[in-house]
Amino acid sequence: MSVETQKETLGFQTEVKQLLHLMIHSLYSNKEIFLRELISNASDAADKLRFEALAKPELLEGGAELKIRLSFDKDAKTVTLEDNGIGMSREEVIAHLGTIAKSGTADFMKNLTGDQKKDSHLIGQFGVGFYSAFIVADQVEVFTRRAGAAASEGVHWSSKGEGEFEVATIDKAERGTRIVLHLKADQEEFADGWRLRNIVKKYSDHIALPIELPKEFHGEEKDKPAEVEWETVNRASALWTRPRTEVKDEEYQEFYKHVAHDFENPLSWSHNKVEGKLEYTSLLYVPGRAPFDLYQREAPKGLKLYVQRVFIMDQADQFLPLYLRFIKGVVDSNDLSLNVSREILQTGPVVESMKSALTKRVLDMLEKLAKNEPEQYKAFWKAFGQVLKEGPAEDFANKEKIAGLLRFASTSEESGEQSVSLADYLGRIKEGQDKIYFLTGETHAQIKNSPHLEVFRKKGIEVLLLTDRIDEWLMSYLTEFDGKQLIDVARGDLDLGKLDSEEDKKAQEEVAKAKEGLVERLKGALAEQVAEVRVSHRLTDSPAILAIGEQDLGLQMRQILEASGQKVPDSKPIFEINPQHPLIEKLDGEPDEDRFADLSHILFDQAALAAGDSLKDPAAYVQRLNKLLVELSA
Ligand code: ADP
Ligand code: MG
Repeated sequence: MSVETQKETLGFQTEVKQLLHLMIHSLYSNKEIFLRELISNASDAADKLRFEALAKPELLEGGAELKIRLSFDKDAKTVTLEDNGIGMSREEVIAHLGTIAKSGTADFMKNLTGDQKKDSHLIGQFGVGFYSAFIVADQVEVFTRRAGAAASEGVHWSSKGEGEFEVATIDKAERGTRIVLHLKADQEEFADGWRLRNIVKKYSDHIALPIELPKEFHGEEKDKPAEVEWETVNRASALWTRPRTEVKDEEYQEFYKHVAHDFENPLSWSHNKVEGKLEYTSLLYVPGRAPFDLYQREAPKGLKLYVQRVFIMDQADQFLPLYLRFIKGVVDSNDLSLNVSREILQTGPVVESMKSALTKRVLDMLEKLAKNEPEQYKAFWKAFGQVLKEGPAEDFANKEKIAGLLRFASTSEESGEQSVSLADYLGRIKEGQDKIYFLTGETHAQIKNSPHLEVFRKKGIEVLLLTDRIDEWLMSYLTEFDGKQLIDVARGDLDLGKLDSEEDKKAQEEVAKAKEGLVERLKGALAEQVAEVRVSHRLTDSPAILAIGEQDLGLQMRQILEASGQKVPDSKPIFEINPQHPLIEKLDGEPDEDRFADLSHILFDQAALAAGDSLKDPAAYVQRLNKLLVELSA
């Protein structure tokens, strides 16, 4: 071994230690994937070198073909993977093989329970990567040199995967990275040509670089060639350049794991070659589950961009709108220039029209998934539904299409599951119904029995129940679907249109007239609290209800704004009374003005509570109520 200088021992970041522990225990039954991860990294390293060499051709140092070599030593019980890609500097080694840079990692790791069964689910959300080498090795050595650096700036990294690693500076003549795995005593099966070949075929056939293994020698020992002969064992062509009909599902799935750095299969994919004014190939995937950092601002998003097969950048987020940021995949353009930069991608008609075409592709793919594989779509909705709900506000042109993909809980779905589409809703609307009704609130339990639903239940009209934080905001953009208005049942003066018969309407008018006196008295008693008092036709069982003014912020939006420290304009609700309710009748007949005022306040506060709001002066409510109770029992 060459001379080592500047040797130091460093500790892994806490999160790396946790990840190592999690991985070794949860991936035991799937241990061969370590090779896929290391090959995936070697392939990325070749991509990066090719890209940097566009500007600095000297980095190719003579220009030998980029490739990956995989070998083993049965006696030494080692497996070695070598690439001639970009390599790493000492700083890069310490940063990449000693820490995890993903934001939100520490928070994520707090979810670990120590219970292996539970924790093993989390690894799928996190991805595995380089550290998976320690599933099969009890010592891992990395020898690497960054392309363009002097031979004397090689780095040797070594670790037993426990708490720390060593780094030292060495001489390394060849650019790139060599990884030596010292297999654990019970993992010696991997030091075997046949086994390695099979794993490469199974997981890494799609890798565009040649992956070479030593040719098996079957002749007489004396005829054995002095030098190792290498042979390529994978297909070694970029998967997305192949015709769709020739790519097997398993190949698409393995390629997904490579580009998405995911550990599990995707739900769906769409592979398209576009020719004509613009020429490009895209391969887009819907992941199977949300990554742990889906809501982190800096979380990786966007596609892997190639120009004429040359890798240009990861996370090119200009090709899809933000509300589709969970989509992974590759886009390979023939129109962009090889020295395209992030800045150039921000503008320009080529990217714009690719973006709108790719957006359509994704929406089509989701539509297809919903139609053909409802179970899979359910999984999609659970993972990414909340993100998709950002769509109607962001993408005006596709609003209707996105709306069709949304799923809601509803009064016709006991379980509270978000499974009803707007099309389902329209498929079973009542005769004469020309609106889509919804109610928003904090939790399903809280609103499923809301007094706002009473009249709808009586008439058998379905109401969508919206309880995600984003819902009220979403609905302020989603005002129409398929020509039908979406109506918040807690807002304004509820007009059921043709759903109320002429007789109903006439009866309502008569009652309103009969209760004019009561309404006036209430206006006086509750002048501070309410914007308006009127007779309700929303209620069957409850005595009173609060409606939100047509233009006012709803409860959810108000709470969000307040939580973010913004000043929320004060708006008073509309107080509606149920003229049939005995309490209201009693109130109407109450001669004593003090008692009338007390009763009015109690009814108002109760209506606020039923709407899920908190009371401004709860002590006063309790006092009034108790006073009444004492009088009752006296
Ligand atoms: P990921 O591939 O998702 O970034 P990994 O844990 O697989 O995460 O790898 C961590 C990082 O280590 C890579 O992003 C890369 O910067 C570096 N790395 C790993 N293997 C190699 C390699 N063969 N050549 C160059 N850099 C590498
Ligand atoms: Mg990786």
